[in-house]
Parts: sequence; structure tokens; C-alpha cells
Amino acid sequence: MKETDVIIVGAGIAGLSAAIYLKRSSLSAFLLEKAAPGGTLLNVHKIDNYPGFETIPGPELAEKTFAQAMALGVEYEYGNVSSIDKNGDLFEVKTDVETYRAKAVIVAAGTQIKQTGFPGQKEFLGRGISYCATCDGNFYKGKPVAVIGHENRAAEEAIYLAGLVSSLDFVSQEPLEIEENLLSQHQNNPKVHFHSGVKVVAVEGEEKLNTLIIEEEGSQKRLPVDGVFPLFGERSSAEFLSAFKVTNERGYLNVSANRETEVAGLFGAGDVINKTLRQAVTAAADGAEAATSAIKYVNLLKKKK
Ligand SMILES: Cc1cc2nc3c(=O)[nH]c(=O)nc-3n(C[C@H](O)[C@H](O)[C@H](O)COP(=O)(O)OP(=O)(O)OC[C@H]3O[C@@H](n4cnc5c(N)ncnc54)[C@H](O)[C@@H]3O)c2cc1C
Repeated sequence: MKETDVIIVGAGIAGLSAAIYLKRSSLSAFLLEKAAPGGTLLNVHKIDNYPGFETIPGPELAEKTFAQAMALGVEYEYGNVSSIDKNGDLFEVKTDVETYRAKAVIVAAGTQIKQTGFPGQKEFLGRGISYCATCDGNFYKGKPVAVIGHENRAAEEAIYLAGLVSSLDFVSQEPLEIEENLLSQHQNNPKVHFHSGVKVVAVEGEEKLNTLIIEEEGSQKRLPVDGVFPLFGERSSAEFLSAFKVTNERGYLNVSANRETEVAGLFGAGDVINKTLRQAVTAAADGAEAATSAIKYVNLLKKKK
């Protein structure tokens, strides 16, 4: 069984930032990642508010941060973490294939898109249903699409799509919670049509999806669209922490200012923690804070023995 001082779960910008800080200490550490390094940034078309870059595509920021970590000699392994337990002072981190031991764990697992489900949503996945505008937007160049959502993420993806498509129906089932500057970009765009407080009934099509059916003011409307992006918002990816009572009712980790949970040696960083601003810059800062706290914690633990 592989043992180390600190395991970081997730190689998004929070996990990579934590790994960069840990590498500068005397502790051993490695990253466990279930997909590609870079996390959510890989799906962000462009970032205009990360210090040091006037504007940068998300994948480029991810690639640069990963390259920096690799150049420093950060250890990185593939692993889909399924559970974390604690025995005495040691955490046991289980993936689908392996069990690891560590004195401290930093959870930087980010969020995932909520899957609420309406008739046709699963059936047309890859044939008109998509969860990522940056990845699939090009398939809908010059065609009509719909985005379903009510939060910033849906609005940001819709801004990217609106630059490509012939028309965009923005469908929200709940009251809009979108920042003013994002909302105004849509309100000034003649291609974008808002349908607020409506119910999504189903999607239909033949080979490919061709209709989104909504219920608006008591009657059904058929919107002719080639693509539908259901972006109902995010939920925490920390289900594997069910052995501990460290999350709030929405699954986000409750942490102190030092990014520590109530379990000694268990830290959280990035979008997975309970906070108000989920952005790259705050995720990177969380990673740095969590790593610094983990270094202090492990060094104290070692002194006691
Ligand atoms: C459309 C969109 C636009 C955005 N625009 C901006 C912007 O302009 N500016 C800005 O600053 N921010 C923006 N953001 C937010 C920013 O991308 C995120 O806040 C940031 O990338 C979160 O980083 P993270 O490391 O916390 O999580 P993530 O990047 O989500 O990384 C988490 C990682 O953990 C891995 N993981 C999850 N579960 C497990 C598991 N069980 N085992 C192993 N690995 C696991 C995931 O695969 C992932 O790689 C945007 C986000 C979106 C979606």
C-alpha cells in the first residue's frame, strides 16, 4: 500500500496550486485525478479576470499550471477516489483499484453538473444534448440552440454559444441568479430570447434532436432547436467523504479560514468548499492555504511521534 504525507484529490487549479506549495516543503505528496489534469478550466472558453493574463483560454491556463507543477517534480497519478476513512492518525484513500495511506488529505474535487432529467435528455446525449458549450459549440454553428439554466455558468456558456449559433433560447425554470454584466450581454443581443419561469417538458427528434418543448404561461410551446444545453447548476463532487460529517446540506465542505475541516488533517480547497465566489483565482488561493495548513499539521504530527 502506497503511503505518503499528503494526498491531494483532484488536479484542477486548486489541487495543482496545493501541489506546487507542498512541493516547496520537505513533505512527500501526490495528486490523484480521475480525469484530465486542469479540471473545469479545460471547458472554459476564455478567462478575463485571472491576474497576470489580460485574457487566456481556460485550457491554456490549465496546461500552464500543470506544466509548472510537473517541472517542479509534483507526483501525479490517475485514480478515481471512491472513499476516504481515517484510522488513528492515518487516512485511507480508496480508488477503484488501489488503497493509499496519508497523514493529511486535501480535497480539491470541484463540482459537477446537476443532472435533473427530463424526457429525452439521456436518449439524445451526443445527438443534440450537450453539457459543454466550449467542447461542442462548433457543431451548432449557424443553427438554433437552447440553454436551460438560471445561474452564471449557464449565462457564460450561452455567451460563447451566442457568438456561433443562429438563435439562442435561454430557458430558466427558476428565478435568474445571474450577475448583471453577464445578463446585460444577453439582453443586448437580438439572437437571444428569454423564457423565464417556465417548465421544461421534453426534447424530441428523430436521428437527432430537433425540438425542445416547454410549458410557458399554461400552454405548451415547441421550440425548433438543433442543440440543448441543460446547465441546471453545479453540485459538490465530494460524495466520497460520506464517512465524515464535514459537508453542508448541499455537499460542500465546511472549512475554517485555514481551509481545515472539523476532521484533523482533512482540508478542502477550490469549488468543492462552502464559499461564495467559485473562480479560478479563489481556487488557486484555497489550494495555497490548504497546503500551508497541511504542512503545519503534518510537521506537528511528526514532532509528536
Ligand atoms: C463555463 C464556466 C466559465 C467560467 N469562467 C470563469 C472565469 O472567467 N474566471 C474564473 O476565474 N473562473 C471561471 N470559472 C470557474 C473556474 O473554472 C472554477 O472556479 C475553477 O476552475 C475550479 O477549480 P477547482 O480546482 O476547484 O475544481 P475543478 O477544476 O473542477 O477540479 C476538480 C478536479 O477534481 C477531479 N475529481 C473530482 N472527483 C474526483 C474523484 N472522486 N477522484 C479523483 N479526482 C476527482 C476532477 O476530475 C477535476 O479535475 C468558470 C467556470 C465555468 C464552468
